[in-house]
Amino acid sequence: MSIRDNLELIREEIARTEALAGRPAGSVTLVAVSKFHPVSSVLEAVKAGQTVFGENRVQEAVPKFQEVLSNSPEISLHLIGSLQRNKVRQIVPLAACIESVDRIELLREIGKHTTASVKHMSILFEIRTGEESKSGYTSEDDLFRSLDLLCEYPFVHCRGLMTLAPQTDNESTIAGSFSYMRRLGEACSVRYPELDFSVLSMGMSSDYKIAIREGSTEVRIGTAIFGERR
Ligand SMILES: *Cc1c(COP(=O)(O)O)cnc(C)c1O
Repeated sequence: MSIRDNLELIREEIARTEALAGRPAGSVTLVAVSKFHPVSSVLEAVKAGQTVFGENRVQEAVPKFQEVLSNSPEISLHLIGSLQRNKVRQIVPLAACIESVDRIELLREIGKHTTASVKHMSILFEIRTGEESKSGYTSEDDLFRSLDLLCEYPFVHCRGLMTLAPQTDNESTIAGSFSYMRRLGEACSVRYPELDFSVLSMGMSSDYKIAIREGSTEVRIGTAIFGERR
């Protein structure tokens, strides 16, 4: 199947799952994860109407998206993989959102490179909800310390939380990790009413339907759109 066919299928499945879950149509954003796939695949997806893309490595994202983004202002790039501090300067001008803020030092670095004259930056805080993933906040206190710091960076905008579910076939374990995220997002909104926690980025090719049922507002899908990664 072509990238266009895959995208159409995923969009239909997202719409169907939203409806079955009693959620309004269009409540879930599709991020097409193009890591390891060539820029020609990105352009194919763009032709099929896809506007939001996810990449997990700065070294790959920068050369791949520099031209795409300057030719097509409607396209936006999200950084979804773990980010080293020395790569922040390169990715801030390109990315619309950094989804993988997983420690306070990284937040400080993003704040340093995000000034009004350069650019505003949307961020998500990555939460570790399964033992397999190596990154993400593991303690709510650490997360709150980072959220407390946001007031020092007026051009860094919290939009919500991101997670990867545990790698298991057990649907109820996966659903449990997603529902924990939803409750954590709600708790954050109560504690920080001045901040925006409207985004819950959760769900990938194998588990996005579970995620949508549990309240995801953004699914990050690679394989089901672009095929297996080499
Ligand atoms: C690769 C990746 C995805 C997409 O995974 P698929 O299983 O190919 O859909 C989603 N989120 C993150 C953080 C990733 O690194």
